[in-house]
Amino acid sequence: MNQEYPILKLTNVSFRYDNQPELLSNISFSTAKHQISIIVGPSGTGKSTLLKLCNRLIDCSEGDIHYNGLSIYQQSPLQIRKKIGYLPQIPYLTDDKVRDNILISFQQKDISDNNSRDIIRLLREVGLSEEYLERSSLELSVGEKQRIAIVRTLMNNSKILLLDEPNSALDEDNSVILIRCLKRLVLQEGVSLIVVTHNLDFARKLGGRFLLLKGGSLVEVNDPSESFMEGKQ
Ligand code: ADP
Repeated sequence: MNQEYPILKLTNVSFRYDNQPELLSNISFSTAKHQISIIVGPSGTGKSTLLKLCNRLIDCSEGDIHYNGLSIYQQSPLQIRKKIGYLPQIPYLTDDKVRDNILISFQQKDISDNNSRDIIRLLREVGLSEEYLERSSLELSVGEKQRIAIVRTLMNNSKILLLDEPNSALDEDNSVILIRCLKRLVLQEGVSLIVVTHNLDFARKLGGRFLLLKGGSLVEVNDPSESFMEGKQ
């Protein structure tokens, strides 16, 4: 049990797409600093939808979501997306240099020496050197792009990362690197992760609390394999 104050809290959240039956029913859960929550479950049950609700890529039909005690619906989607970073399977970077991609939401006049120090520190946290700043994003592997996208999100001071199937386009070596980098961010930066994955091995290696989404409900399970066992019955 994590007794810390929740940084993100969902209360009785329900959701349906237009003209569709209810997909998510009455979901409540919260996450605190330094916590990893891994959402598992059969395909099509609404895992990605749940992530998108958490940073206002879509809005819930019923219920409320609080970030640091304040409803996300009292803030603009743009404000929320800066605080709660969403990373799709293959992150989008422009064709520019890594430095420009990381500072994309900063105005030139707002960039200070402190920002440069923060970038270098965060690059090291994700296992990349300072030299990457001058590289073109076109030269990067998917795994490197993903880590640059994480640095970009953290430069916005995001304390929560929502990761949707983060290892689906990675080979085994890059998967291991990503897991190491995510664990370091949780431990040293106090970041909270909400991760959707259908990869049992990745889920176990990352570790954390496992939440099974099935039939519109979210329940905590001891091991991610419970979602696979269910599917075989
Ligand atoms: P999961 O991540 O668990 O595979 P998703 O959240 O991607 O599930 O999708 C859940 C269900 O919602 C699926 O049946 C999918 O087809 C449907 N869905 C996803 N996005 C939309 C949309 N924009 N409009 C209508 N239905 C959608």
